[in-house]
Amino acid sequence: MRAFVIGNAAIDETISVDGLPEPGVSILGRIASRDLGGKGTNQAVVMARGGLETTLVSATGEDFRSAMIREQLAEEPLAARLSSVAGISTDFSMVLTTPDGENSIVTTTEAAEALPLEAALEALGEAAPGDFLVMQGNLGAETTETLLKTGRERGLVTAFNPSPLRPYFERLWPFIDIAFLNESESLSLAGSTGRKAAEALHAKGIRQVVLTAGTDGAMLSTAGGDLIHIPAVKAKAIDTTGAGDTFMGAALASAARRGGMLDQRAISHAAAASALAVARRGTRRAFPSRDELAEIFAG
Ligand code: ATP
Repeated sequence: MRAFVIGNAAIDETISVDGLPEPGVSILGRIASRDLGGKGTNQAVVMARGGLETTLVSATGEDFRSAMIREQLAEEPLAARLSSVAGISTDFSMVLTTPDGENSIVTTTEAAEALPLEAALEALGEAAPGDFLVMQGNLGAETTETLLKTGRERGLVTAFNPSPLRPYFERLWPFIDIAFLNESESLSLAGSTGRKAAEALHAKGIRQVVLTAGTDGAMLSTAGGDLIHIPAVKAKAIDTTGAGDTFMGAALASAARRGGMLDQRAISHAAAASALAVARRGTRRAFPSRDELAEIFAG
């Protein structure tokens, strides 16, 4: 099976700060890293490194960040289908990270929102029933809804990460098979966390719900089936940026090896993969390598 990730590509500018700034306060910081990022790209990179044949569909402007994105993606084992859109800025994220590994992120979405729908539909034309369609919250509302609906009609397994939060997500649930949410997304979108949140999301038609809770681990709930809790793997966290994306990418790549739906092994593999990512600084450079993922998936 193959994965089609349709989402954003960005450059993450990570700045180390002693503490997150209060409103109206200027603080000092040090550039910690400049790395390829963006939720869609992160998830695609991890899936591809995990051995899943992956196509990333995304958009950039025509500036220096676009060139950086292209250069870095060329080093990854995935097919990148990037649309260059004239007159817009390539997306970037300002990541503030503190000594205890916490972070706050501001992401621009001008390029993601300009992704031409036809380019994404053309890529999806190559997908076969049972392939993954993987999406997040960075694209425009119409584009996201149309693609998920198309994916569902073509028999793809649709996986959605509702981040960053958008008011239009309520319209998307009927087209989603698997959802990955962290605690704040769960509170905002399901009004609770844990089993209650999973049940609320199953009631909207989602077959499998994964709720991640940082060092408290993660939960996989399958409609009409089991609830599985997997603890986090102990790690010395120095930068948690991309932990959720690593988790989702690794879970899907692991599941793909056994047919596509998530199981206990996929979630355990995802916990091990994200523990590696939080112990390193940066985004792409922090993600587990092909060898590391192969070793995790063998367990
Ligand atoms: P981020 O926004 O930082 O990418 P997230 O908020 O989407 O992450 P989390 O729930 O914080 O997602 O983390 C996802 C998974 O990563 C967790 O379920 C856990 O397995 C792993 N993880 C996160 N933080 C740590 C940590 N400090 N130590 C070990 N594992 C961690």
